[in-house]
Amino acid sequence: MSGLKLVCLSCAQTNRVPEQKLNAGAKCGTCGERLMSGKAVEVDAQTLAKAARTDEVPLLVDFWAPWCGPCRMMAPQFSKAAGHMKGLVRFAKINTQDFPQASQKHGIRGIPTMIGFAGGREKGRQSGALQAPQIEAFAAQTFR
Ligand SMILES: [Zn+2]
Repeated sequence: MSGLKLVCLSCAQTNRVPEQKLNAGAKCGTCGERLMSGKAVEVDAQTLAKAARTDEVPLLVDFWAPWCGPCRMMAPQFSKAAGHMKGLVRFAKINTQDFPQASQKHGIRGIPTMIGFAGGREKGRQSGALQAPQIEAFAAQTFR
């Protein structure tokens, strides 16, 4: 089968999407959500684990928590960057208060921390609250 493998960030179903359809509003075959929404999508630990090892489109994940001021400051910037990089990189967020196992698995020491995944592996990480242009620069450098 051809096409890129993408885990739906809403229902965790693996989809195969022809490359030319990626940016033409490709939807999940199971739940109907857009696979490349241009938005930062909240995921649970299980969906994150599956997407990180399966996705054939780069995935940038923000590890955050509601009690973390810098995380809340960064949230709109992360969303903005997600919109700018639509079609190139998918953006996801994981609430480390709800899913501490995800922080543990990835050895997160402080939040916010972003990790870029591609080809089933971690490609890079960056801690601290960043502005949208810095987030985009980090993604461009990590996924080049
Ligand atoms: Zn789905």
